[in-house]
Amino acid sequence: MKILLVEDAKSVVKVMTARLSSYGYEVCHAENGEKAVEVFTSVVPDLILMDIEMPVMNGFEATNRIRGIEATQQWAWTPIIFLTSSDTVQNLVTAIEAGGDDFMSKFVPEPVLQAKMRAMSRIATLRQRLTVANSKLQTMADHDGLTGLLNRRSMDHRVDAAWMEAVSHGKPFGLLMLDIDNFKKYNDHYGHQAGDDCLKSVARAVELATQRANQAGLASNSFAARYGGEEFAVTLPKVTPDAYAQVASAIVEAVSALGIAHEKNNDWGITTISVGGTYLPAANGELSKVFRHADANLYQAKQQGRNRAVI
Ligand SMILES: [Mg+2]
Repeated sequence: MKILLVEDAKSVVKVMTARLSSYGYEVCHAENGEKAVEVFTSVVPDLILMDIEMPVMNGFEATNRIRGIEATQQWAWTPIIFLTSSDTVQNLVTAIEAGGDDFMSKFVPEPVLQAKMRAMSRIATLRQRLTVANSKLQTMADHDGLTGLLNRRSMDHRVDAAWMEAVSHGKPFGLLMLDIDNFKKYNDHYGHQAGDDCLKSVARAVELATQRANQAGLASNSFAARYGGEEFAVTLPKVTPDAYAQVASAIVEAVSALGIAHEKNNDWGITTISVGGTYLPAANGELSKVFRHADANLYQAKQQGRNRAVI
């Protein structure tokens, strides 16, 4: 457990640090409220022991600021115990009202300090587990279970954000809609298990092509998503026209290079993908039109014989 000790009296700091360290806790120190607020986000303590009377900024004000920072984050609440010189009922009430969780005398007997720290340590462990569980849940909520790509819901979210950013700065914006050719026939012919494997392989190829574009500096923050069924979408914010075209053809090539047999995909004999795109040198207007235009081009790609990009 990492403890942030906020205290101006050097003698108290010395004694408390020695005691807490001897129990095996990591202790960092801030000499007043202002310093505590400053280091709070970088230190990320599991517990804060907060003196009340301090120069520059007192403990109540510092607590108020820290709670303000936490209010902007999800599930953030660091336990704060006020350190007081006297155990009075009024001190406890004031401490809780100021956003603290408990208060404790600076001269607390050794066993009481040890017991309180053990209780706090249990809470810290639980909070760490909750953080891990929450981030796993978030990942599951944002990704498609079969392919591991971003799902439709999180894609909508991110496309909207990328679009608004591009519009407000008049930046370029590219969107590619992808559809596996004759996928229904693939499922009918090879079965749904094979269909799932095919979707996974194609999704991986699309994801790699998108990542490669980012890594090569052709695009930044572009991302692939499963749009639904056998449809995928690749969003390319701030992309140059050349890079946009390169990514589109790289995806078509990457999928056919997988060489997944598909004898019902006439002309090709392997699994292929068609791509329709929209490119705006300076984003403006409505995002729904961008999607409609990409869809119309995807239809053209199908009409022209599939396994190609119309952008
Ligand atoms: Mg003081």
